[in-house]
Amino acid sequence: MSFDEMGIKDDLLRGIYNYGFEKPSAIQQRAVLPIISGRDVIAQAQSGTGKTSMIALAVCQIVDTKSSEVQALILSPTRELAAQTEKVILAIGDYINVQAHACIGGKSVGEDIRKLEHGVHVVSGTPGRVCDMIKRRTLRTRAIKLLILDESDEMLSRGFKDQIYDVYRYLPPELQGIKQFFVAVEREEWKFDTLCDLYDTLTI
Ligand code: AMP
Repeated sequence: MSFDEMGIKDDLLRGIYNYGFEKPSAIQQRAVLPIISGRDVIAQAQSGTGKTSMIALAVCQIVDTKSSEVQALILSPTRELAAQTEKVILAIGDYINVQAHACIGGKSVGEDIRKLEHGVHVVSGTPGRVCDMIKRRTLRTRAIKLLILDESDEMLSRGFKDQIYDVYRYLPPELQGIKQFFVAVEREEWKFDTLCDLYDTLTI
């Protein structure tokens, strides 16, 4: 399958090709379409297989950049991963003018507030800071339609389960806003049962 056959919007396709990609990687071929068509997806991929780019691609495809509300939220276990994801989204989404912001611990809260109030379509962050921004009502959740838990096995093993749940509680209560739930898992020795437990808890 080529990027052209994936039903991706033209300006995003331009961004993808301009970024230097010619053909979707295996995980991109398998996961992007189900995510953008609104299905819940749990995907497992080793690092270096195009996982971050797959997330960026799906996120850029589902956001409506005419709206200035946050429509996709990506939680990652580390600041570096959250920042890297933001970077790839901004790069491939250059022609759709996507606004993304990394909400990560250790960076200025004032800067987060300024950026979020200015209007962003995508937030990529670590659970603690994201939760903080939601509780301050700086990060508005009502238009979020895609939640991605990147390296969820790593987040669980770092003890983020409660914070993830906390974030989830602040998402629209009727769940109408949450169209999708996506988990990208990197490690081989992932704990499928724990993951499914989390999934069940969050999708009740
Ligand atoms: P990722 O797992 O998304 O961080 O990707 C690992 C490396 O592969 C990065 O250097 C990406 O830029 C690159 N990459 C990801 N997807 C593709 C693709 N479809 N074609 C070429 N390179 C890719």
